[in-house]
Amino acid sequence: AALRKSLQLCSQSYTVSTSFSYEAIKQQCRLEVPEYFNFASDVLDRWTKIEKEGKKNKNPALWWVDGDGKEVKWSFEELGVLSRKVANVLSDACGLQRGDRVLLILPRIPEWWLVNVACLRTGNVLIPGTQQLTVKDILYRLQKSKAKCIITDDFVAPAVDSVGAECQSLKCKLLVSEGHREGWLNFKDLLKNAPSNHQCVTTKHHDPMAIYFTSGTTGSPKMTEHSHSSYGIGFTVNARYWLDLTHSDVIWSTSDTGWAKASWASISTWIQGACVFVHKMPQFNPITVFECLSRYPITVFCSPPTAYRMFVQHKLSSYTFKSLRHCVSAGEPINPDVMEEWKVQTGLDIHEGYGQTETVLICANFKGMKIKPGSMGKPSPTYDVKIIDENGNILSPGKEGDIAIRVKPTRPPFLFTCYTDDPEKTAATIRGDFYVTGDRGIMDEDGYYWFVGRSDDVITSAGYRIGPFEVESALIEHPAVVESAVVSSPDPIRGEVVKAFVVLTPEYVSHDPEEVIKELQDHVKKVTAPYKYPRKMEFVQELPKTVSGKIRRNELRQKEWRK
Ligand code: ATP
Ligand code: MG
Repeated sequence: AALRKSLQLCSQSYTVSTSFSYEAIKQQCRLEVPEYFNFASDVLDRWTKIEKEGKKNKNPALWWVDGDGKEVKWSFEELGVLSRKVANVLSDACGLQRGDRVLLILPRIPEWWLVNVACLRTGNVLIPGTQQLTVKDILYRLQKSKAKCIITDDFVAPAVDSVGAECQSLKCKLLVSEGHREGWLNFKDLLKNAPSNHQCVTTKHHDPMAIYFTSGTTGSPKMTEHSHSSYGIGFTVNARYWLDLTHSDVIWSTSDTGWAKASWASISTWIQGACVFVHKMPQFNPITVFECLSRYPITVFCSPPTAYRMFVQHKLSSYTFKSLRHCVSAGEPINPDVMEEWKVQTGLDIHEGYGQTETVLICANFKGMKIKPGSMGKPSPTYDVKIIDENGNILSPGKEGDIAIRVKPTRPPFLFTCYTDDPEKTAATIRGDFYVTGDRGIMDEDGYYWFVGRSDDVITSAGYRIGPFEVESALIEHPAVVESAVVSSPDPIRGEVVKAFVVLTPEYVSHDPEEVIKELQDHVKKVTAPYKYPRKMEFVQELPKTVSGKIRRNELRQKEWRK
Protein backbone atom coordinates (compact mmCIF):
# COMPACT_ATOMS: atom_id res chain seq x y z
CA ALA A 1 0.00 0.00 0.00
CA ALA A 2 2.83 2.35 0.83
CA LEU A 3 4.46 1.72 -2.49
CA ARG A 4 1.20 2.24 -4.32
CA LYS A 5 0.75 5.54 -2.51
CA SER A 6 4.26 6.55 -3.45
CA LEU A 7 3.81 5.64 -7.09
CA GLN A 8 0.50 7.45 -7.18
CA LEU A 9 2.10 10.51 -5.70
CA CYS A 10 4.68 10.43 -8.42
CA SER A 11 2.40 9.84 -11.34
CA GLN A 12 0.09 12.69 -10.44
CA SER A 13 0.03 15.28 -13.17
CA TYR A 14 2.75 17.70 -12.35
CA THR A 15 3.06 21.25 -13.47
CA VAL A 16 6.44 22.83 -13.00
CA SER A 17 7.48 25.73 -10.79
CA THR A 18 4.16 27.09 -9.69
CA SER A 19 2.89 23.93 -8.06
CA PHE A 20 6.15 22.79 -6.52
CA SER A 21 6.19 23.04 -2.78
CA TYR A 22 9.19 21.60 -1.03
CA GLU A 23 7.34 21.38 2.29
CA ALA A 24 4.33 19.66 0.71
CA ILE A 25 6.54 17.03 -0.89
CA LYS A 26 8.34 16.47 2.40
CA GLN A 27 5.01 15.81 4.09
CA GLN A 28 3.96 13.41 1.35
CA CYS A 29 7.26 11.58 1.65
CA ARG A 30 6.62 10.41 5.16
CA LEU A 31 5.50 7.08 3.79
CA GLU A 32 5.76 3.70 5.34
CA VAL A 33 8.19 1.38 3.69
CA PRO A 34 6.56 -1.75 2.32
CA GLU A 35 7.70 -4.99 3.95
CA TYR A 36 8.24 -6.59 0.56
CA PHE A 37 9.68 -4.79 -2.41
CA ASN A 38 11.26 -5.91 -5.63
CA PHE A 39 11.91 -3.37 -8.35
CA ALA A 40 11.47 -5.91 -11.17
CA SER A 41 8.09 -7.28 -10.13
CA ASP A 42 6.69 -4.20 -8.35
CA VAL A 43 7.82 -1.55 -10.79
CA LEU A 44 8.98 -2.91 -14.14
CA ASP A 45 6.21 -5.50 -14.49
CA ARG A 46 3.71 -2.85 -13.47
CA TRP A 47 4.90 -0.58 -16.28
CA THR A 48 4.60 -3.52 -18.68
CA LYS A 49 0.97 -3.75 -17.70
CA ILE A 50 0.40 0.00 -18.12
CA GLU A 51 2.18 -0.17 -21.49
CA LYS A 52 -0.08 -3.05 -22.63
CA GLU A 53 -3.15 -1.08 -21.59
CA GLY A 54 -1.94 1.70 -23.86
CA LYS A 55 -1.81 4.10 -20.95
CA LYS A 56 1.78 5.19 -21.29
CA ASN A 57 3.81 7.17 -23.75
CA LYS A 58 4.98 5.06 -26.71
CA ASN A 59 8.68 5.54 -26.01
CA PRO A 60 10.64 2.35 -25.43
CA ALA A 61 11.97 1.47 -21.97
CA LEU A 62 15.53 1.23 -23.29
CA TRP A 63 16.87 3.03 -26.33
CA TRP A 64 20.47 2.13 -27.10
CA VAL A 65 22.61 3.43 -29.94
CA ASP A 66 26.22 2.65 -30.78
CA GLY A 67 26.97 5.74 -32.85
CA ASP A 68 27.60 3.62 -35.98
CA GLY A 69 23.97 3.16 -36.90
CA LYS A 70 23.14 0.18 -34.69
CA GLU A 71 20.15 0.69 -32.46
CA VAL A 72 18.24 -1.37 -29.87
CA LYS A 73 14.79 -0.36 -28.65
CA TRP A 74 13.04 -2.48 -26.03
CA SER A 75 9.59 -1.91 -24.65
CA PHE A 76 8.97 -2.75 -20.99
CA GLU A 77 7.45 -5.98 -22.20
CA GLU A 78 10.55 -6.93 -24.23
CA LEU A 79 12.77 -5.98 -21.33
CA GLY A 80 10.64 -8.22 -19.15
CA VAL A 81 10.85 -11.21 -21.49
CA LEU A 82 14.59 -10.90 -22.09
CA SER A 83 15.47 -10.31 -18.45
CA ARG A 84 13.44 -13.38 -17.45
CA LYS A 85 15.47 -15.41 -19.94
CA VAL A 86 18.68 -14.06 -18.41
CA ALA A 87 17.31 -14.88 -14.96
CA ASN A 88 16.93 -18.49 -16.11
CA VAL A 89 20.49 -18.48 -17.47
CA LEU A 90 21.77 -17.32 -14.08
CA SER A 91 19.80 -19.92 -12.14
CA ASP A 92 20.15 -22.86 -14.53
CA ALA A 93 23.33 -22.73 -16.63
CA CYS A 94 25.28 -20.74 -14.05
CA GLY A 95 23.79 -22.63 -11.10
CA LEU A 96 23.48 -19.50 -8.98
CA GLN A 97 21.39 -19.45 -5.82
CA ARG A 98 19.57 -16.49 -4.41
CA GLY A 99 22.03 -14.29 -2.47
CA ASP A 100 25.06 -15.35 -4.55
CA ARG A 101 27.11 -12.41 -5.73
CA VAL A 102 27.68 -11.58 -9.39
CA LEU A 103 30.45 -9.28 -10.62
CA LEU A 104 29.36 -7.50 -13.79
CA ILE A 105 31.96 -5.71 -15.91
CA LEU A 106 30.52 -4.61 -19.23
CA PRO A 107 30.64 -1.41 -21.25
CA ARG A 108 27.44 0.45 -22.05
CA ILE A 109 25.78 -2.36 -23.99
CA PRO A 110 22.15 -3.52 -23.63
CA GLU A 111 23.20 -6.75 -21.89
CA TRP A 112 24.33 -4.68 -18.89
CA TRP A 113 20.71 -3.61 -18.34
CA LEU A 114 19.43 -7.15 -18.82
CA VAL A 115 21.77 -8.59 -16.19
CA ASN A 116 20.82 -5.84 -13.75
CA VAL A 117 17.14 -6.66 -14.05
CA ALA A 118 17.75 -10.42 -14.10
CA CYS A 119 19.60 -10.24 -10.77
CA LEU A 120 16.60 -8.48 -9.24
CA ARG A 121 14.45 -11.36 -10.46
CA THR A 122 16.74 -14.09 -9.10
CA GLY A 123 17.77 -12.31 -5.89
CA ASN A 124 21.44 -12.37 -6.87
CA VAL A 125 23.52 -9.55 -5.46
CA LEU A 126 24.95 -7.49 -8.28
CA ILE A 127 28.40 -5.90 -8.11
CA PRO A 128 29.07 -3.59 -11.05
CA GLY A 129 32.65 -2.82 -12.05
CA THR A 130 34.14 -0.48 -14.62
CA GLN A 131 35.93 -1.70 -17.77
CA GLN A 132 38.95 0.27 -16.73
CA LEU A 133 39.81 -2.06 -13.86
CA THR A 134 43.30 -3.50 -13.94
CA VAL A 135 44.15 -7.16 -13.27
CA LYS A 136 44.97 -6.19 -9.67
CA ASP A 137 41.62 -4.39 -9.25
CA ILE A 138 39.73 -7.39 -10.59
CA LEU A 139 41.53 -9.77 -8.25
CA TYR A 140 40.80 -7.39 -5.32
CA ARG A 141 37.12 -7.25 -6.22
CA LEU A 142 36.70 -10.99 -6.81
CA GLN A 143 38.47 -11.92 -3.58
CA LYS A 144 36.90 -9.21 -1.42
CA SER A 145 33.38 -9.81 -2.67
CA LYS A 146 33.62 -13.63 -2.87
CA ALA A 147 31.63 -13.38 -6.10
CA LYS A 148 30.40 -16.74 -7.45
CA CYS A 149 30.05 -15.51 -11.00
CA ILE A 150 31.64 -12.97 -13.30
CA ILE A 151 29.95 -11.63 -16.41
CA THR A 152 32.16 -9.73 -18.80
CA ASP A 153 33.36 -9.39 -22.40
CA ASP A 154 36.41 -10.29 -24.51
CA PHE A 155 38.23 -7.18 -23.37
CA VAL A 156 38.27 -8.11 -19.68
CA ALA A 157 38.14 -11.94 -19.87
CA PRO A 158 41.96 -12.44 -20.21
CA ALA A 159 42.52 -10.46 -17.00
CA VAL A 160 39.97 -12.63 -15.20
CA ASP A 161 41.66 -15.79 -16.47
CA SER A 162 45.03 -14.61 -15.25
CA VAL A 163 43.79 -14.40 -11.64
CA GLY A 164 40.87 -16.87 -11.65
CA ALA A 165 42.86 -19.60 -9.89
CA GLU A 166 43.34 -17.31 -6.89
CA CYS A 167 39.60 -16.77 -6.47
CA GLN A 168 38.17 -19.81 -4.70
CA SER A 169 34.58 -18.57 -4.67
CA LEU A 170 34.41 -18.01 -8.42
CA LYS A 171 32.41 -20.86 -9.94
CA CYS A 172 31.09 -19.48 -13.18
CA LYS A 173 32.37 -17.24 -15.96
CA LEU A 174 29.91 -15.88 -18.47
CA LEU A 175 31.16 -14.23 -21.64
CA VAL A 176 29.14 -11.64 -23.55
CA SER A 177 30.65 -12.06 -26.99
CA GLU A 178 30.05 -13.35 -30.48
CA GLY A 179 33.00 -15.69 -30.00
CA HIS A 180 33.82 -18.46 -27.56
CA ARG A 181 36.49 -18.81 -24.92
CA GLU A 182 37.68 -21.86 -23.07
CA GLY A 183 36.34 -22.15 -19.54
CA TRP A 184 33.58 -19.63 -20.21
CA LEU A 185 29.87 -20.05 -20.88
CA ASN A 186 28.55 -18.02 -23.76
CA PHE A 187 25.87 -15.55 -22.75
CA LYS A 188 24.33 -15.09 -26.17
CA ASP A 189 24.04 -18.82 -26.91
CA LEU A 190 22.43 -19.50 -23.55
CA LEU A 191 20.08 -16.55 -23.90
CA LYS A 192 18.81 -17.81 -27.24
CA ASN A 193 17.74 -21.13 -25.77
CA ALA A 194 16.58 -20.01 -22.32
CA PRO A 195 12.88 -20.18 -21.46
CA SER A 196 11.15 -16.84 -20.93
CA ASN A 197 8.92 -17.83 -18.03
CA HIS A 198 10.40 -17.05 -14.66
CA GLN A 199 8.92 -16.42 -11.24
CA CYS A 200 10.50 -13.36 -9.68
CA VAL A 201 11.76 -13.98 -6.12
CA THR A 202 9.93 -12.30 -3.27
CA THR A 203 12.29 -9.94 -1.52
CA LYS A 204 11.92 -8.08 1.74
CA HIS A 205 12.81 -4.44 1.35
CA HIS A 206 15.94 -4.87 3.50
CA ASP A 207 17.30 -7.93 1.66
CA PRO A 208 20.64 -7.24 -0.05
CA MET A 209 20.33 -6.11 -3.65
CA ALA A 210 23.70 -4.79 -4.77
CA ILE A 211 27.21 -3.96 -3.69
CA TYR A 212 28.67 -0.83 -5.23
CA PHE A 213 32.29 0.15 -5.01
CA THR A 214 32.83 3.83 -4.12
CA SER A 215 34.78 5.96 -6.59
CA GLY A 216 38.06 5.64 -4.68
CA THR A 217 38.68 9.39 -4.62
CA THR A 218 40.34 9.21 -1.23
CA GLY A 219 41.70 5.66 -1.09
CA SER A 220 40.71 2.10 -1.92
CA PRO A 221 37.11 1.87 -3.11
CA LYS A 222 34.77 0.63 -0.38
CA MET A 223 32.18 -2.13 -0.92
CA THR A 224 28.90 -0.46 -0.16
CA GLU A 225 25.92 -2.76 0.31
CA HIS A 226 22.40 -1.62 -0.60
CA SER A 227 19.08 -3.31 -0.05
CA HIS A 228 16.12 -3.46 -2.44
CA SER A 229 14.83 -0.29 -0.75
CA SER A 230 17.40 1.87 -2.44
CA TYR A 231 15.52 1.52 -5.76
CA GLY A 232 12.21 2.03 -4.01
CA ILE A 233 10.34 4.93 -2.56
CA GLY A 234 13.43 7.02 -1.93
CA PHE A 235 14.29 7.10 -5.56
CA THR A 236 10.71 7.64 -6.71
CA VAL A 237 10.78 11.04 -5.13
CA ASN A 238 14.20 11.91 -6.49
CA ALA A 239 13.32 10.74 -9.99
CA ARG A 240 10.15 12.79 -9.89
CA TYR A 241 11.37 15.99 -8.35
CA TRP A 242 15.10 16.15 -9.00
CA LEU A 243 15.25 14.50 -12.43
CA ASP A 244 11.76 15.77 -13.20
CA LEU A 245 10.82 12.53 -14.93
CA THR A 246 7.51 11.19 -16.17
CA HIS A 247 6.80 8.40 -18.64
CA SER A 248 6.98 10.96 -21.46
CA ASP A 249 10.65 11.64 -20.82
CA VAL A 250 13.82 10.30 -22.36
CA ILE A 251 16.71 10.45 -19.90
CA TRP A 252 20.36 10.17 -20.79
CA SER A 253 22.97 9.72 -18.10
CA THR A 254 26.54 9.44 -19.34
CA SER A 255 27.77 7.62 -16.21
CA ASP A 256 30.14 4.66 -16.54
CA THR A 257 28.38 1.35 -15.87
CA GLY A 258 30.83 0.63 -13.06
CA TRP A 259 29.39 3.11 -10.58
CA ALA A 260 26.31 3.28 -8.40
CA LYS A 261 25.26 6.42 -10.24
CA ALA A 262 24.66 4.39 -13.42
CA SER A 263 22.20 2.18 -11.56
CA TRP A 264 20.29 5.06 -10.05
CA ALA A 265 20.33 7.30 -13.11
CA SER A 266 19.61 4.66 -15.72
CA ILE A 267 17.77 1.82 -13.99
CA SER A 268 15.85 3.08 -11.02
CA THR A 269 14.66 5.99 -13.18
CA TRP A 270 12.31 3.39 -14.72
CA ILE A 271 10.26 3.91 -11.58
CA GLN A 272 8.76 6.84 -13.48
CA GLY A 273 8.26 4.82 -16.65
CA ALA A 274 10.78 7.03 -18.43
CA CYS A 275 12.76 5.91 -21.48
CA VAL A 276 16.42 5.30 -20.68
CA PHE A 277 18.67 6.44 -23.51
CA VAL A 278 22.16 4.99 -23.80
CA HIS A 279 25.03 5.78 -26.15
CA LYS A 280 27.76 3.16 -26.20
CA MET A 281 30.41 5.90 -26.22
CA PRO A 282 33.60 3.92 -25.54
CA GLN A 283 35.43 7.24 -25.15
CA PHE A 284 33.84 10.31 -23.68
CA ASN A 285 33.57 12.92 -26.41
CA PRO A 286 31.75 16.26 -26.09
CA ILE A 287 30.96 16.35 -29.81
CA THR A 288 29.18 12.96 -29.56
CA VAL A 289 27.16 14.39 -26.69
CA PHE A 290 26.17 17.51 -28.64
CA GLU A 291 25.23 15.44 -31.69
CA CYS A 292 23.10 13.08 -29.62
CA LEU A 293 21.29 15.88 -27.86
CA SER A 294 20.60 17.42 -31.28
CA ARG A 295 19.49 14.22 -32.96
CA TYR A 296 17.48 12.29 -30.35
CA PRO A 297 14.46 13.44 -28.34
CA ILE A 298 16.38 13.46 -25.06
CA THR A 299 14.54 15.59 -22.51
CA VAL A 300 16.62 15.05 -19.36
CA PHE A 301 20.41 14.94 -19.29
CA CYS A 302 22.73 13.95 -16.46
CA SER A 303 26.51 14.31 -16.51
CA PRO A 304 29.26 15.05 -13.98
CA PRO A 305 30.75 18.54 -13.52
CA THR A 306 33.98 17.51 -15.23
CA ALA A 307 31.95 16.90 -18.41
CA TYR A 308 30.08 20.21 -18.17
CA ARG A 309 33.45 21.97 -17.75
CA MET A 310 34.48 20.42 -21.08
CA PHE A 311 31.17 21.26 -22.75
CA VAL A 312 31.37 24.98 -22.05
CA GLN A 313 34.79 25.14 -23.72
CA HIS A 314 32.93 24.55 -27.02
CA LYS A 315 30.74 26.82 -29.08
CA LEU A 316 27.31 25.30 -28.60
CA SER A 317 25.50 27.83 -30.77
CA SER A 318 25.87 25.62 -33.86
CA TYR A 319 23.72 22.92 -32.22
CA THR A 320 20.02 22.84 -31.43
CA PHE A 321 19.28 20.45 -28.64
CA LYS A 322 16.07 19.01 -29.98
CA SER A 323 14.02 18.28 -26.87
CA LEU A 324 16.32 18.97 -23.94
CA ARG A 325 14.57 20.74 -21.08
CA HIS A 326 16.18 19.60 -17.80
CA CYS A 327 19.86 19.14 -16.91
CA VAL A 328 21.40 17.74 -13.76
CA SER A 329 24.90 17.18 -12.47
CA ALA A 330 26.27 15.20 -9.54
CA GLY A 331 29.44 13.64 -8.22
CA GLU A 332 31.41 16.79 -7.51
CA PRO A 333 30.50 20.41 -6.89
CA ILE A 334 29.69 22.33 -10.05
CA ASN A 335 31.21 25.77 -10.40
CA PRO A 336 28.68 28.63 -10.66
CA ASP A 337 30.59 30.00 -13.64
CA VAL A 338 30.09 26.75 -15.56
CA MET A 339 26.38 26.79 -14.72
CA GLU A 340 26.12 30.33 -16.00
CA GLU A 341 27.98 29.61 -19.21
CA TRP A 342 25.80 26.53 -19.86
CA LYS A 343 22.71 28.65 -19.30
CA VAL A 344 23.94 31.36 -21.68
CA GLN A 345 24.63 28.78 -24.37
CA THR A 346 21.60 26.48 -23.93
CA GLY A 347 19.08 28.51 -21.96
CA LEU A 348 18.95 25.74 -19.35
CA ASP A 349 19.80 25.58 -15.66
CA ILE A 350 21.90 22.80 -14.22
CA HIS A 351 20.16 21.21 -11.24
CA GLU A 352 22.97 20.07 -9.03
CA GLY A 353 22.57 17.00 -6.84
CA TYR A 354 24.78 15.86 -4.01
CA GLY A 355 25.02 12.26 -2.90
CA GLN A 356 27.28 9.35 -2.17
CA THR A 357 27.48 5.70 -3.12
CA GLU A 358 26.44 5.12 0.49
CA THR A 359 23.37 7.35 0.44
CA VAL A 360 21.90 7.87 -3.02
CA LEU A 361 20.75 11.53 -3.20
CA ILE A 362 21.26 13.69 -0.10
CA CYS A 363 20.60 17.22 -1.37
CA ALA A 364 19.46 18.63 -4.68
CA ASN A 365 18.09 21.58 -6.52
CA PHE A 366 14.65 20.13 -7.06
CA LYS A 367 12.64 21.21 -10.05
CA GLY A 368 10.82 24.43 -9.34
CA MET A 369 13.05 25.47 -6.45
CA LYS A 370 14.97 28.70 -6.70
CA ILE A 371 18.54 27.79 -7.60
CA LYS A 372 21.29 29.49 -5.63
CA PRO A 373 24.39 28.97 -7.78
CA GLY A 374 27.13 27.24 -5.78
CA SER A 375 24.65 25.63 -3.39
CA MET A 376 23.70 21.94 -3.47
CA GLY A 377 20.08 22.89 -2.81
CA LYS A 378 17.98 21.36 -0.07
CA PRO A 379 17.91 17.88 1.47
CA SER A 380 16.09 15.16 -0.38
CA PRO A 381 12.66 14.95 1.28
CA THR A 382 13.52 11.34 2.14
CA TYR A 383 16.30 12.32 4.57
CA ASP A 384 16.66 14.42 7.69
CA VAL A 385 19.97 16.16 6.95
CA LYS A 386 21.82 18.31 9.48
CA ILE A 387 25.14 20.04 9.96
CA ILE A 388 26.70 18.67 13.14
CA ASP A 389 29.79 19.24 15.29
CA GLU A 390 32.37 16.72 16.50
CA ASN A 391 30.07 15.65 19.35
CA GLY A 392 27.05 15.08 17.17
CA ASN A 393 25.29 18.33 18.15
CA ILE A 394 23.26 20.11 15.49
CA LEU A 395 24.82 23.42 14.44
CA SER A 396 22.86 26.56 13.67
CA PRO A 397 22.59 28.07 10.18
CA GLY A 398 25.79 29.67 8.91
CA LYS A 399 28.10 27.40 10.93
CA GLU A 400 30.44 25.01 9.15
CA GLY A 401 30.34 21.39 10.26
CA ASP A 402 29.93 17.80 9.10
CA ILE A 403 27.08 17.00 6.75
CA ALA A 404 25.12 14.21 8.42
CA ILE A 405 21.91 12.18 8.05
CA ARG A 406 19.74 11.23 11.02
CA VAL A 407 19.71 7.46 11.53
CA LYS A 408 18.13 7.22 14.97
CA PRO A 409 15.61 6.12 16.01
CA THR A 410 15.14 4.70 12.50
CA ARG A 411 17.86 4.18 9.93
CA PRO A 412 16.46 5.33 6.57
CA PRO A 413 16.04 2.24 4.39
CA PHE A 414 17.59 3.93 1.35
CA LEU A 415 20.89 4.37 3.16
CA PHE A 416 23.48 1.64 2.54
CA THR A 417 23.20 -1.24 4.97
CA CYS A 418 26.94 -1.68 5.58
CA TYR A 419 30.42 -1.74 4.11
CA THR A 420 30.51 -5.41 3.16
CA ASP A 421 32.35 -7.56 5.71
CA ASP A 422 33.67 -4.47 7.48
CA PRO A 423 31.63 -3.82 10.64
CA GLU A 424 34.31 -1.50 12.05
CA LYS A 425 34.30 0.82 9.06
CA THR A 426 30.50 0.73 9.04
CA ALA A 427 30.31 1.63 12.74
CA ALA A 428 32.84 4.44 12.28
CA THR A 429 30.34 6.32 10.11
CA ILE A 430 27.95 6.81 13.05
CA ARG A 431 28.21 9.72 15.47
CA GLY A 432 25.40 10.14 18.00
CA ASP A 433 22.12 10.03 16.10
CA PHE A 434 23.74 10.58 12.73
CA TYR A 435 25.48 8.97 9.78
CA VAL A 436 28.44 11.22 9.00
CA THR A 437 29.16 11.72 5.30
CA GLY A 438 32.79 12.82 5.66
CA ASP A 439 31.94 16.05 3.83
CA ARG A 440 31.94 19.52 5.37
CA GLY A 441 29.19 22.00 4.68
CA ILE A 442 27.07 24.91 5.83
CA MET A 443 23.30 25.34 5.88
CA ASP A 444 22.10 28.89 5.30
CA GLU A 445 19.09 30.65 6.82
CA ASP A 446 16.87 29.46 3.94
CA GLY A 447 17.76 25.80 4.50
CA TYR A 448 20.08 25.57 1.46
CA TYR A 449 23.26 23.51 1.85
CA TRP A 450 26.69 24.66 0.71
CA PHE A 451 29.54 22.24 0.14
CA VAL A 452 32.83 23.27 1.73
CA GLY A 453 34.92 20.21 0.90
CA ARG A 454 35.70 16.67 1.88
CA SER A 455 36.84 16.80 5.50
CA ASP A 456 40.42 15.99 4.47
CA ASP A 457 40.48 18.58 1.69
CA VAL A 458 39.69 21.62 3.84
CA ILE A 459 42.77 23.82 4.21
CA THR A 460 43.65 25.54 7.50
CA SER A 461 45.96 28.46 6.87
CA ALA A 462 47.02 30.90 9.60
CA GLY A 463 43.85 30.10 11.52
CA TYR A 464 41.48 30.43 8.53
CA ARG A 465 39.57 27.45 7.17
CA ILE A 466 39.39 27.40 3.40
CA GLY A 467 37.30 25.07 1.27
CA PRO A 468 39.02 24.24 -2.05
CA PHE A 469 35.82 24.45 -4.08
CA GLU A 470 35.34 28.16 -3.40
CA VAL A 471 38.85 28.98 -4.60
CA GLU A 472 38.49 26.70 -7.65
CA SER A 473 35.20 28.39 -8.52
CA ALA A 474 36.86 31.80 -8.28
CA LEU A 475 39.73 30.67 -10.51
CA ILE A 476 37.50 29.20 -13.22
CA GLU A 477 35.79 32.58 -13.67
CA HIS A 478 39.03 33.82 -15.21
CA PRO A 479 39.41 33.23 -18.98
CA ALA A 480 42.86 31.66 -18.45
CA VAL A 481 41.47 28.70 -16.49
CA VAL A 482 39.94 25.48 -17.84
CA GLU A 483 39.89 23.85 -14.41
CA SER A 484 41.94 23.69 -11.25
CA ALA A 485 42.52 21.76 -8.05
CA VAL A 486 43.24 23.57 -4.82
CA VAL A 487 45.09 21.81 -1.99
CA SER A 488 47.14 22.61 1.08
CA SER A 489 50.89 22.98 0.82
CA PRO A 490 53.36 23.25 3.71
CA ASP A 491 54.56 26.68 4.78
CA PRO A 492 57.08 27.45 7.55
CA ILE A 493 55.10 30.38 8.95
CA ARG A 494 51.45 29.69 8.22
CA GLY A 495 51.59 25.92 8.71
CA GLU A 496 49.87 25.40 5.39
CA VAL A 497 48.94 27.64 2.50
CA VAL A 498 46.62 27.41 -0.48
CA LYS A 499 48.17 25.97 -3.61
CA ALA A 500 46.37 25.82 -6.95
CA PHE A 501 47.15 23.40 -9.75
CA VAL A 502 45.77 25.04 -12.88
CA VAL A 503 45.02 23.80 -16.39
CA LEU A 504 45.31 26.81 -18.71
CA THR A 505 43.17 27.59 -21.76
CA PRO A 506 45.16 27.39 -25.03
CA GLU A 507 45.36 31.21 -25.40
CA TYR A 508 47.21 31.54 -22.11
CA VAL A 509 49.69 28.70 -22.44
CA SER A 510 52.23 30.92 -24.22
CA HIS A 511 51.89 33.86 -21.77
CA ASP A 512 54.59 34.66 -19.24
CA PRO A 513 53.81 32.29 -16.33
CA GLU A 514 54.80 34.82 -13.65
CA GLU A 515 52.37 37.37 -15.08
CA VAL A 516 49.55 34.83 -15.33
CA ILE A 517 50.11 33.78 -11.70
CA LYS A 518 49.95 37.40 -10.56
CA GLU A 519 46.82 38.02 -12.65
CA LEU A 520 45.08 34.95 -11.25
CA GLN A 521 46.03 35.77 -7.68
CA ASP A 522 44.66 39.31 -8.07
CA HIS A 523 41.54 37.91 -9.65
CA VAL A 524 40.87 35.54 -6.72
CA LYS A 525 41.52 38.33 -4.22
CA LYS A 526 38.93 40.41 -6.04
CA VAL A 527 36.13 37.84 -6.34
CA THR A 528 36.46 36.14 -2.96
CA ALA A 529 37.79 36.95 0.51
CA PRO A 530 41.45 37.87 -0.14
CA TYR A 531 42.89 35.47 2.47
CA LYS A 532 41.78 32.57 0.26
CA TYR A 533 43.98 33.46 -2.70
CA PRO A 534 46.47 30.75 -3.77
CA ARG A 535 49.90 31.80 -2.56
CA LYS A 536 51.41 28.99 -4.62
CA MET A 537 50.45 28.05 -8.13
CA GLU A 538 51.55 25.45 -10.64
CA PHE A 539 50.41 25.00 -14.23
CA VAL A 540 49.69 21.44 -15.31
CA GLN A 541 48.49 19.75 -18.51
CA GLU A 542 45.79 17.82 -16.65
CA LEU A 543 44.58 17.02 -13.15
CA PRO A 544 44.71 13.57 -11.59
CA LYS A 545 41.19 12.12 -11.65
CA THR A 546 39.33 8.96 -10.79
CA VAL A 547 37.86 6.84 -13.57
CA SER A 548 34.56 8.63 -12.95
CA GLY A 549 36.25 11.98 -13.53
CA LYS A 550 36.61 13.26 -9.98
CA ILE A 551 39.60 15.36 -9.05
CA ARG A 552 41.98 13.46 -6.74
CA ARG A 553 43.11 16.33 -4.55
CA ASN A 554 44.58 13.92 -2.02
CA GLU A 555 47.15 12.76 -4.60
CA LEU A 556 48.31 16.34 -5.21
CA ARG A 557 48.28 17.13 -1.50
CA GLN A 558 50.37 14.10 -0.63
CA LYS A 559 52.95 15.10 -3.25
CA GLU A 560 53.16 18.59 -1.77
CA TRP A 561 53.72 17.31 1.73
CA ARG A 562 56.23 14.66 0.68
CA LYS A 563 58.40 17.22 -1.12
P1 ATP B 1 35.78 7.29 -1.91
O1 ATP B 1 34.71 7.28 -0.87
O2 ATP B 1 36.15 5.93 -2.37
O3 ATP B 1 36.95 8.13 -1.59
P2 ATP B 1 34.01 9.03 -3.40
O4 ATP B 1 33.63 9.57 -2.07
O5 ATP B 1 34.38 10.01 -4.46
O6 ATP B 1 35.19 7.97 -3.25
P3 ATP B 1 31.37 8.50 -4.32
O7 ATP B 1 30.49 7.81 -3.39
O8 ATP B 1 31.24 8.22 -5.77
O9 ATP B 1 32.86 8.12 -3.95
O10 ATP B 1 31.25 10.06 -4.18
C1 ATP B 1 30.62 10.72 -3.13
C2 ATP B 1 31.34 11.99 -2.80
O11 ATP B 1 31.39 12.84 -3.95
C3 ATP B 1 30.65 12.83 -1.75
O12 ATP B 1 30.96 12.38 -0.45
C4 ATP B 1 31.19 14.22 -2.05
O13 ATP B 1 32.48 14.40 -1.48
C5 ATP B 1 31.32 14.21 -3.56
N1 ATP B 1 30.12 14.82 -4.20
C6 ATP B 1 29.12 14.21 -4.85
N2 ATP B 1 28.23 15.11 -5.33
C7 ATP B 1 28.67 16.31 -4.96
C8 ATP B 1 28.19 17.66 -5.12
N3 ATP B 1 27.10 17.94 -5.80
N4 ATP B 1 28.92 18.64 -4.55
C9 ATP B 1 30.04 18.37 -3.87
N5 ATP B 1 30.54 17.14 -3.70
C10 ATP B 1 29.88 16.13 -4.23
MG1 MG C 1 33.28 8.62 -0.23
